Amino acid sequence: MKNKIDNLLRPSSFDTFFGQEDVTNQLKIHIFSAKNRKTVLNHILFYGPPGLGKTSLANILANEMGNKLITITAISLEKVPDLISILGQLEPGDILFIDEIHRLKIELCEILYSAMEDFKIYVSYKNDENTKLLTLNLAPFTLIGATTNIGCISKPLYDRFPLIFKLNYYDEKTLWKIIDHNKKIFSLNIDSSLYNLIIERSRFTPRYLNNILFKISDYSLYYGLKKIEEDDLIKAFKCMKINEGGLTFEDIEIIKIIGKNFSNKPISLESVASMLNEDVNNIKNINEPFLVRSNIILRTKRGRMLSQKGLKILEKYS
Ligand code: ADP
Repeated sequence: MKNKIDNLLRPSSFDTFFGQEDVTNQLKIHIFSAKNRKTVLNHILFYGPPGLGKTSLANILANEMGNKLITITAISLEKVPDLISILGQLEPGDILFIDEIHRLKIELCEILYSAMEDFKIYVSYKNDENTKLLTLNLAPFTLIGATTNIGCISKPLYDRFPLIFKLNYYDEKTLWKIIDHNKKIFSLNIDSSLYNLIIERSRFTPRYLNNILFKISDYSLYYGLKKIEEDDLIKAFKCMKINEGGLTFEDIEIIKIIGKNFSNKPISLESVASMLNEDVNNIKNINEPFLVRSNIILRTKRGRMLSQKGLKILEKYS
C-alpha cells in the first residue's frame, strides 16, 4: 500500500514535477532536439542534496523520451564484468541511471569513459600468453548520473557529461504547490492556511515534505480526524517528532557539538565529523547545506560557528 502511494508521489512527467524551472526548461529543449534529430539524449549529471528530485527527473526523462530506464546504485556494482554485462544488455535509446555515481570504483569509471564517448568498451584478455584487445560495440544509450557529492567525482568522468545540472532547495511557493497536489494522494483534508506550518518543517526538500504528509496522514487516520485543524497538526508534530525548522536528530547533535562541546569557537567540519563518528562528506553534503541555508550555522574563514538563531536552538535542546 505504501509502495502504491510512493509510486503516486513520484512525478512521472514535467506536469507534476514542481519547481527547478531553470533545469526543467533546459531539459525540455534537449528532449525536443534529441527527438527531432532522432538521436539519443546526451549524458546528464544531476547533483545536489538528497530528496530534491534527481531520481524523479531520470524517470521523467525516460518517460518523455519513451525509452526504458535501468536504475542501479554505484555501490551495488562490484566488479568490471558486472558493469560490462549491464552495458552490453542495453538496447538503443535505453537510459542507464547510476545513483551516487561518485562512489563508482575507478576501474569501473574507466569502462564508462569509452562507453560514454564512443559506445564502445575495450577489454583486454590473454590468449597464448599474448594480451589481446577486444572491442565491444554498445547500443547508443544515455547515462544519467546522480550524486550528492559532486566534489568526489573523478575529473575524467565529470568531463564526459555534456549536461550537468545542480538541483537547489525548493522555495515556499513550490512546496505549497507540492502539498496542494499531494494532499489528494494522501486523502488529507487540510486547509491551505496551514501549509506554512508544514513547509517550515520540510527542510525545503520534497522528500521530507512527503514524509511529513505521510506521518500526518497516518496520525489523522489513527485518530479518525475528518479534517485537520491547527491544534491537531501541532499535536501530530509533537507526537511524530517532526521538529521545528525540520531539524533532524543529527542536525541537533551537530548544533550541540559546535555550541556546547566547542563553546561556539570556530571549528572544522572534520572535528564535528570525528565527534559524531560520521563521514565528513555526509555532513558536508547533507547536513551543512541545510543548516547554512537556514542561517543556523555560519561558515566563517576560521571554521563553523552557530549564529544567534543557532544559539537559540541550542538553548532549546540543551
Ligand atoms: P533524489 O533522487 O534527489 O534523492 P527523488 O527524485 O528520489 O530525490 O525525490 C524524492 C521524492 O520527492 C520523489 O519520490 C517525489 O515524491 C518527491 N519530489 C522530488 N522532487 C519533486 C518535485 N520537483 N515535484 C514534486 N515532487 C518531488
